[in-house]
Amino acid sequence: MAHEILVVEDEPTLSRLLTYNLGQEGYQVQAVDHGGEGLQLALRHPFDLIILDIMLPGLNGFEVLSQLRRQGSATPVIILTARNAEEEVVQGLRYGADDYITKPFGVAELLARVAAVLRRVHPEDAPASGGKDEKVIQVGDLKIYPEKYEVHLNGESIPLRPKEFEVLLYLVQRPGVVVTRDDLMNVVWGFDYIGGQRTVDVHVSSLRKKLEMNQESVQIDSIRGVGYKLIGTVRK
Ligand code: CA
Repeated sequence: MAHEILVVEDEPTLSRLLTYNLGQEGYQVQAVDHGGEGLQLALRHPFDLIILDIMLPGLNGFEVLSQLRRQGSATPVIILTARNAEEEVVQGLRYGADDYITKPFGVAELLARVAAVLRRVHPEDAPASGGKDEKVIQVGDLKIYPEKYEVHLNGESIPLRPKEFEVLLYLVQRPGVVVTRDDLMNVVWGFDYIGGQRTVDVHVSSLRKKLEMNQESVQIDSIRGVGYKLIGTVRK
């Protein structure tokens, strides 16, 4: 059964982005934009996970979290903290958050955190020992392990930085489709990331070098002025 996730976030763009991408991953998502509403809903319904913003109208994230825990709820919570606000992290963890993610963040990173927290609390859902059910995506001679952030070629790991891995994963999930720099920016770096699209280009170019050094059956084409496209046969 699909895991149910409650998103408590008052920023409409971010809330929509989270709802959409979590939905694409197969989660059932409910979103509210008010702290009090989030708390009521979380107490009424057994969600598998809550993504909780800190700065919220009504009750703030800390109040929601502490009341949840005080009323006996053990639902895992990932808090969304503001940039340069380390005290929010410390306080959030003290109130019983299971993990945190600092804004701006890429959807890819968030999805990885969500999967990790769910694996921790529902180890029975994890693949049987030996990892034979482990998710793997094959492109040409590459094997990509989304949950481990690893790429292998003939059993050898190719060292990719996390952002390079996330760019590759997004592209292989859309083979033959032109992906814009904006899309990559939003998914990998976060929609309010301050930094140019040059960041995307630098990562793609380094990714390309690492991959093309090793094999020719996968290729990342540049689409001038728009973005990138992965050429290759993807098997899941
Ligand atoms: Ca907020």
